[in-house]
Amino acid sequence: MSNQDFREFDPNETEIADISDDVIEEVTGKDNKEDKKDNQDKKPTEFCYMCRRPDNICGPLIKMAPGMGVCNECMQRTFDSMGNFGFGGGDNSKSNMDMSKMPNISFLNLGNLFGEGPKVKNAHGASTAKAEEDRPAPAIDINNIIPPHKIKAMLDEYVVGQDYAKKVMSVAVYNHYKRVATGTMDDIEIEKSNMLMLGPTGSGKTYLVRTLARLLDVPLAITDATSLTEAGYIGDDIESVVSKLLAAAGNDVERCQQGIIFIDEIDKLAKKKNTNQRDVSGESVQQGMLKLLEGADVEVPIGASSKNAMVPTTTINTRNILFICGGAFPAMDEIIKARLNKHSSMGFMADLKDKYDNDKNILQKVTVEDLREFGMIPEFIGRLPIVFATEMLDEDMLVRILKEPKNAIIKQYAKLLELDEVKLEFEEEALHAIARKALDKKLGARGLRSIIEEFMLDIMYEIPKDDNIGQVIITGDYIEKKGGPKILVRAAGMISDKAAAQ
Ligand code: ADP
Repeated sequence: MSNQDFREFDPNETEIADISDDVIEEVTGKDNKEDKKDNQDKKPTEFCYMCRRPDNICGPLIKMAPGMGVCNECMQRTFDSMGNFGFGGGDNSKSNMDMSKMPNISFLNLGNLFGEGPKVKNAHGASTAKAEEDRPAPAIDINNIIPPHKIKAMLDEYVVGQDYAKKVMSVAVYNHYKRVATGTMDDIEIEKSNMLMLGPTGSGKTYLVRTLARLLDVPLAITDATSLTEAGYIGDDIESVVSKLLAAAGNDVERCQQGIIFIDEIDKLAKKKNTNQRDVSGESVQQGMLKLLEGADVEVPIGASSKNAMVPTTTINTRNILFICGGAFPAMDEIIKARLNKHSSMGFMADLKDKYDNDKNILQKVTVEDLREFGMIPEFIGRLPIVFATEMLDEDMLVRILKEPKNAIIKQYAKLLELDEVKLEFEEEALHAIARKALDKKLGARGLRSIIEEFMLDIMYEIPKDDNIGQVIITGDYIEKKGGPKILVRAAGMISDKAAAQ
């Protein structure tokens, strides 16, 4: 860009205001004479500080300081020219200053402020990107939804165990998208299949939802209930979950309206006991979520998580958005046990008091009554008609998680070493030792990766050093820190093959 280009921003120059109508028509493609005639009837009040055109010609001014306003066009040109100088991250090799790479700095597109904004595909399907056309066909077409047993079979490829949870989710999703596809069935409005999923940490709640959304090819937004507060308080507004979903749907309103919202840690919204204070992050959030869960029109900002005057908004209807709430619900087992013991400790058939003490999957016996006792408000529970729990993972399940899923952790490591032409094997005892360590950490399957990583670090570091290594076997002793891994040297032929390749 030459200095010449900057001359048009000189506030003292006024000739730009006198650009002929023909030139303006050529640039804007509009018949400027007509516009001008309309606008001339209005009395000009202010002049753009840069191009000097009156506001009845150049449109409302952006106030920079008292008595100083700049028109939209000049402001955008200023941003654009900064971009060309490399400030905005434009392709400018002369500049070594790329502000787009700096945290918290972004350049405004004024189009966003004046309604042209990030491209939003409306609910009737008009417009947007080519990427849309390039999207591969979804595994499950929501307009031609496949039956629950097939959905479960697909989930089985990725999620180990949790058969009951997978079954419940498959049926719920099937019914939900049938409802979405058909609108209503005659006079009978099918109820929404929002779900409430209980289960210990690391038992795969989030993973189930993620896998499901991926298989359905619907957008998914995951939010933590603890970050939500009643509107107007510090924290995210409840409606921010919908704008997250809109972002996940690439600002496509129609796709967003068929998406899934997963709200984790929902148990943290339980009504606080014995308090007279206003509970802006608990009970009030439950109240605030009622209309979202049921289906309402919400106005959400596009490309931001909070509404303000500077961000364009769009309206999303949440009627067909599937809400799944998840939580560990600690201490819920005590509530369930107390209820069960109360029922079973009377009469001739009285059970032993400690009958349920060793029941690891007691959460699966949860009822609406227990949820109320825990502190969830009845209206909230009423809007999550499908309640189920994931199983506590035991040692055998953890071992299966390590090796069975399509993208199992040990398969990933084996693939990595395969690239170095080294075979990786885990002895069964090593897998059990890893699973036991994860159980000790009480993090469920979430602990597995960090444990394996700790042991694989040395191996991944040492192996590329030595071309002779052909196979590594991770032993139980290595995991128990009683010995090392077995390292097998490559057969003579193999070594020379690798050497020849290099
Ligand atoms: P939660 O949400 O219940 O706390 P996550 O879904 O975040 O737990 O699980 C953590 C990780 O553990 C997942 O990313 C996944 O890799 C693994 N995982 C958990 N459960 C299973 C399972 N049943 N099958 C396969 N992997 C699982």
